[in-house]
Amino acid sequence: MKTFHYYIDGRFEDGEARFDSVDPSTGEVWANMPEARTADTDRAVRAADRALNDAAWRGLTAAARGKLLYRLGDLIEQHASDLADLETQDTGKIVRETKAQIAYVAEYYRYFAGLADKIEGRVVPVDKKDMDATTHNEPIGVVAAIVPWNSQLFLSAVKIAPAIAAGCTVVLKASEEAPAPLLAFAKLVHEAGFPPGVINIITGFGAECGRVLTSHPLVARVAFTGGPETARHVVRNTADNFAHLTLELGGKSPVMVFDDADLDSAANAIIASIFAATGQSCVAGSRLLIQRGVYDDLLARIVEKAKRIRIGVPSDFATEMGPLATRQQRDKIERVVAESLEAGATLITGGAVPQDMPQKGNYYLPTILDCRNTSASALTEELFGPVLAVSVFDDEDDAVAQANSTRFGLASGLFTRDIGRTSRMVKRIRAGIVWVNTYRVIAPSMPFGGYGDTGYGREGGVASIYDYLRTKSVWIYTSDEPIGDPFVMR
Ligand code: NAD
Repeated sequence: MKTFHYYIDGRFEDGEARFDSVDPSTGEVWANMPEARTADTDRAVRAADRALNDAAWRGLTAAARGKLLYRLGDLIEQHASDLADLETQDTGKIVRETKAQIAYVAEYYRYFAGLADKIEGRVVPVDKKDMDATTHNEPIGVVAAIVPWNSQLFLSAVKIAPAIAAGCTVVLKASEEAPAPLLAFAKLVHEAGFPPGVINIITGFGAECGRVLTSHPLVARVAFTGGPETARHVVRNTADNFAHLTLELGGKSPVMVFDDADLDSAANAIIASIFAATGQSCVAGSRLLIQRGVYDDLLARIVEKAKRIRIGVPSDFATEMGPLATRQQRDKIERVVAESLEAGATLITGGAVPQDMPQKGNYYLPTILDCRNTSASALTEELFGPVLAVSVFDDEDDAVAQANSTRFGLASGLFTRDIGRTSRMVKRIRAGIVWVNTYRVIAPSMPFGGYGDTGYGREGGVASIYDYLRTKSVWIYTSDEPIGDPFVMR
């Protein structure tokens, strides 16, 4: 069995407690993890706070911080394959995806490395004589970064990279469900040469480690990705420290296909949107809305492709869909699919556990439910799994009404060749991302985030670095004349 350590103040540690991690493809324990409880979580925050004010970090130029991030990006690229194997084993995500995704994470570090020395203050024209007024950007302070188990190298990069570029220090909490890749990533942070305490990586359970971290008086900003229920705890926790907060939460993203779309291309994008990563993606296109004229044709193409998806062990490059990360997730999916069928939905394909896979693994078949004219919960509940709820629409108004009938608002997909319609629909869709004639595309320079219960804030892009900075307004009186009447505001 493999043993992992966490990383506090430049040292690798055993942890104040330990817990086991299960391989979701076999259901067997494969590794033993350190667990931070109150004491170690507190120590990690104190290390970050000390580092924040230490000359070894504070004294570095922005360009020097950028160079450290570049080095980290290069190390990630060099070790992407090993990190991917760990992520595949701990989360069950297929190796075909983890290898490509982690190699690309290097680009996020490089993007923010380049940004580090391009953040400028301003000279502000004020309506006062003999006054130099300027604004300065200062690092906001200690950042608590909390991520779920899916796409964790990516979700931590969009927090760590801008935070470090801005001059902050970080405590990253990896998910207790699958911390292996982030604990291994800590070795690269060490090798890159960040001063001790600048980046600390721990793991532990939400109720203790997560609570202590997000309510800690020395934490100035919390960058959280996870589910909406957990986020409610985090919002309450930050009532204790008034930390600034970014929330990247769930989704129930609609994909709309109009009758003028390239149906074959749309069908491929839809397969990617819901069955890639076994549907365990916050941007999963879990609601498919098809215009009535092409409903049968498009659905037939998708069903045919879904039935051909190769389910297998995640470490095999030929596998297209692996297991779900946890048994609880599969239980939830089974419950919601059963409820949806009771509510009148029709099962078109899937809806069961594949019989030819290890039964202790968390496998589930690609599933398509025809939910036309029903109030099936598959249309509203985020399942975080390979379940597509399909509906029909008649025109743009109908498509918009159905697409926006969700409390979430993360991603959306639009398939049409009509440029006027594209422009109209883009304006009316209530979602943080609109992909037109494509799906599941990301880049470090593009903001990522949502509306409504998906939370607030955007990660990625130039503007996101300002989440990790605060403005200081500096007034310099330039005259040698003595200050006048002290009882009048100047
Ligand atoms: P989760 O909310 O259960 O856990 C996320 C993290 O929060 C974990 O590290 C967990 O330990 C921690 N946590 C739990 N309780 C806490 C508490 N009281 N205080 C502080 N931290 C606590 O989420 P999950 O099941 O691991 O991940 C799935 C969810 O994440 C889905 O809803 C998915 O949509 C969402 N997600 C969103 C995005 C996005 O960018 N919008 C990306 C990926 C995943």
